[in-house]
Order: sequence, then C-alpha cells, then structure tokens
Amino acid sequence: MKISGRTRVCGLIGDPVEHSLSPSIQNAAFRSLGLDYVYVVLRVSKESLEDAILGMRGLGFRGLNVTMPHKIDVTRHLDELDETAKNVGSVNTILNRNGLLIGYTTDGIGALRALRYNGVDPSGKKIVLLGAGGASRSVSFTLAKEASEIVILNRTVEKAERLANDLTFVLGDGAKVRAEGLSDGNLKKELVDADVLVNATSVGMHPKEEETPVDRHFLRPKLVVFDLVYEPFETRLLREAREVGARTLDGLAMLVHQGAASIEIWTGVSAPTEVMMKAALEGLAEAKR
Ligand code: NAP
Repeated sequence: MKISGRTRVCGLIGDPVEHSLSPSIQNAAFRSLGLDYVYVVLRVSKESLEDAILGMRGLGFRGLNVTMPHKIDVTRHLDELDETAKNVGSVNTILNRNGLLIGYTTDGIGALRALRYNGVDPSGKKIVLLGAGGASRSVSFTLAKEASEIVILNRTVEKAERLANDLTFVLGDGAKVRAEGLSDGNLKKELVDADVLVNATSVGMHPKEEETPVDRHFLRPKLVVFDLVYEPFETRLLREAREVGARTLDGLAMLVHQGAASIEIWTGVSAPTEVMMKAALEGLAEAKR
C-alpha cells in the first residue's frame, strides 16, 4: 500500500478500539479494489468526540466508522442523518461530502446482506429478535420491512416495547411487531413456530463465553440461528444450534457486510465481500496467537 498526498483517509473511532478487526477488513477491500484509500484506527474518548468530528472535517477525512460508546452521541455533531439513522437514532458510518458530514447506520443492511449472502431470505418469515439495544434497533428497522412477523424479546421489557412502538410508528401497522420479556416461557412459546432467531444481546460474548441467551431445549433443526456476537466466532448459542441440526450464521458475516456497506457509501464502488471475509478470518486467527 503506497500512501501519497492523494490518498484518501477513512477510519474507525471508538473506545476501546485496539482489538478491532476493521482495519484488516477495510484495508483488504481498498487494496483489492485498487483504490488509493487507507483505513486507520483512532481511539477517541467520550470527552474528545466533538473535537474528533471537527478534526474529521478539518483534515478532510473521507469517512469514519463509529463504534461504542459514540454511536448515539455522534448524531448531534453531524450535518445530516439518512432516514434509517434518524429512525434508529444511531450512526456507525459518516461520509464527508465536500465538508458536509452525513451519518448512516449500516448494521441493519449488514445483517440483511449477511443473511441473503448465506442463502437465507427473511421475506415472509417469523423472526424472533433478542435484545433491544443499539444493534437490535438497527437490525429490526431493516428486518421488519422483510419479515411477516417480528417478536422482540428483551431482559428490560420496557425497552423492547419502546422499540416495537417506534417500529410500528415508522413502518405502520403492517410491520407486525410484538414485544415481550426475555424469559424461558416466552422463548418456548415464540420459537416453536419461528423461522429465524437473531441474538442481538451481548450474552455469550467474550469473556462470558459459557453464557447463552437461549436454553438448547428451545432450539429446533428448522430454525436459522444468527448470532451478532463475533467474539468468540462460534458462540455457545451457535454451537448448540449446530448440534441440534439448525442452520447457523455468525456475527463475523455481519461485521463484514456492514463494513462493505460503509465502503460503498465512501467510494461508490461495490465492495469485495469474499476478500473482506478472508481478511476477517485471518485477523481473528492472528488475534488469538
Ligand atoms: P447494547 O446497546 O449495550 O445492548 C445490549 C443488549 O444486550 C440489551 O438488549 C441488553 O438488555 C442485553 N443484555 C446484556 N446483558 C444481558 C444479560 N445478562 N441477559 C440478557 N440480556 C442482556 O449493545 P449493542 O450495541 O446492541 O450490541 C449487542 C451485541 O451485538 C454485542 O455483542 C455486539 O458486539 C454485537 N454487535 C455485532 C455487530 C456485528 O457486526 N457483528 C454489530 C453491532 C453489534 P437490557 O436492555 O435489558 O440491558
């Protein structure tokens, strides 16, 4: 990779960011496309967020990815939000268009593209979505447009109800959204006829790898189980789903596809998802060494 005065700079802001796989994935995409772009990782504290966004404008960065803890706060510092980012209330991608900073959220489209890329079409399906945090909000706004029914189960039921109300308000009654608490009783009742289960909680994430949001007895071979957690690569939920014969999809697929959508926003060019997936797997293997 040759850096020159013409190289366009993109990056990731968040805290912590030291272990992010995004530089491996995004730089692999730029290299494969032969684009004169580079992607850097920038640790930005909560207190420095406003300065960082001013810096992006002043330094002429082409784009940024935004991760925890800034996804919601950053919306206040941008000039425009695209419609999905406005509805979801968070941003994970910023485009600098000649000094105008525009915020997008690509988590939802990343999840949809990961499903479709792996041969799962959520259209007309019943989806059970666990969690009502940032990832769940983003994913639900995209999947609710496709699914015949979406059931949101969350530990804090009020958050699930707020999300269900927001979805119905934006998408209309046709969205067919319900909200319940995340309990064994509700999991048993809702999973019996569900087509796709999406885990958008952080349960099972490193270092609590032995935790799972769903008892294995509620998993069935006909279910597609999609876990947004990508560390570990195969969570306990995915391992148990695989053991009962269910189809599984990991969070790395979503990480790659949401990153691909960001690349497309910055460059206007189709992203090479296979190259990006290979880089993600290599980055993950390297991190374990
Ligand atoms: P968040 O906004 O903090 O939300 C966390 C969610 O997990 C909430 O619904 C929370 O429930 C639930 N939760 C946490 N601990 C729980 C427990 N012990 N039992 C039951 N529920 C629990 O986080 P987020 O940004 O939505 O991220 C959620 C997960 O998605 C993370 O693991 C993140 O790494 C992953 N993610 C992956 C990608 C990808 O590209 N693959 C992208 C984005 C996020 P309460 O509301 O009750 O607290």
